[in-house]
Formats: sequence, structure tokens, C-alpha cells
Amino acid sequence: MKKLIAGNWKMNGSIQKNALLIQGIIKGIEAEPNLLSACDFAVFPPFVFIPSINKEIKNAAGKIILGAQDCSAFDAGAYTGEVSPLMLKETGCTHVILGHSERRQYHGETDELISRKAQAANKAGLITVICVGETLEEREAGEAQKIVGRQLSSSIPETATAENTIIAYEPVWAIGTGKTATPDDAQAMHGFIRKKLNEQLEDSQKLRILYGGSMKPENAKDLLAAPDIDGGLIGGASLQVADFLSIGRAAL
Ligand code: PEP
Repeated sequence: MKKLIAGNWKMNGSIQKNALLIQGIIKGIEAEPNLLSACDFAVFPPFVFIPSINKEIKNAAGKIILGAQDCSAFDAGAYTGEVSPLMLKETGCTHVILGHSERRQYHGETDELISRKAQAANKAGLITVICVGETLEEREAGEAQKIVGRQLSSSIPETATAENTIIAYEPVWAIGTGKTATPDDAQAMHGFIRKKLNEQLEDSQKLRILYGGSMKPENAKDLLAAPDIDGGLIGGASLQVADFLSIGRAAL
């Protein structure tokens, strides 16, 4: 399966900084066309920058996938502060991240809400990137698979298929901490996720499972070599053009 190298920009940057970031990524990809034969690249900017990043991507013949970091579970109406999946679609997004651990932790998002958001996103024609992952306490208590298993069965909606859904395994203790799961530990969890998805979805072999958690140029090659790791969801290192491209190169 072709790898997906996805940059979650989180709440970073400015109009100018993010324009420079996307321009740098496009320039790098155009300079090394073989990168696109090894992997797809995606970026997930903050909502307000989506239209301008979309313009840059379109000018580069749409070589990069564009997504948002969250969406509403509602289609339209009196939901102050929310952004609907259809609005994302209209502004050029094809993908949306849902259930990132930062949203679960700081915004109280539950599996049930994530499932409703995913259903609304699928209905609007968006591909979801549903995040799952255990905390350090849960891992140390030997409960990592139990937690991830529950997140999978409760946050993936019935509208999900191998084509409109991507799973990102992001151990919470590895996000933004510099700590990374070893390729063996990550593969063990990805293998478990694949097995669990077999029970929930048809064609789950075709579904991409990304690893996220301090992925960087130094560890990307070993992680991406694991049989069930189909790409990376990258936070910090996706904000540096050279690091992001170098992670893509690790998929070659
Ligand atoms: C993330 O937030 O999705 C992430 C994986 O962040 P980082 O790469 O910075 O750990």
C-alpha cells in the first residue's frame, strides 16, 4: 500500500508562515518527483488557513491532499463556533482528522461524539482520519489494547469503509514528547488494530493505519518499514519543510 505522510499543523503558524511552509513542501516535492511514487502527502492546517493553502495546492496541480483538524457533527445551523463537513468540502478539503487525543483531552470529546462527527463527515464525502491511542498509565497497566479496541469499536461509525476511513494510532505518551513507540511495539498495536478492523469492516486490508507520536527523520524509516504501518501522522516535524520531506523520503 502507498504510504501516507500527513502533517497535522495544529494551532501553529500565521498567514505568512503557513504560505512559506506549503510553498516549501510543494517545491520539495516538485524537485523530487519520485517521492510521490512512494507516498502521498497531506497537510491539515488550522481552519482559517484552509482556503489560502488550497489555492497554493491547486496551483501545484493538486499534488498534496488537504484536510482539516476537526469538524462539527452537525450539517448546518445554530452551532456557534462550529465548522461543518460540507463547509470543509467546499473550501477544498477531502480529509478530516477526528478524535485527536488533544481534542479528547482538552475538549472532552468522547468516542460517541467522534462517531457522530465521522458519520457527518462521511455523509459529506470526506475521508476521516480517526485517532486512537492509550495514555502512559493505561499502557503501564497493560490496558493499551483494551483501550484502543474500545476506541475503535465506539468511534468508527457504520458509514465507515476502507475507502473513506483512515486510522491513526497515536499513543498519547508519544505525542509531542520526543518519546516514540519502538517499531516492534507500534507494529504490535497496528497488527491488533488491523485484526480488530477485520471484525468491523469489509476490505480492512485496504485501510490505511498511520502511526503518530514524535515521528521524525531519525525514526521514520524503521517505523514505516513495519508491515502494518501505512504512513505517519506528524505534528512537530511537519512544521519544518526539510523534516517533513525527509520523512517522505524514508518511505522510498
Ligand atoms: C500529533 O499530534 O498528531 C503528533 C503525532 O504530534 P508529534 O509528531 O509532535 O508527536
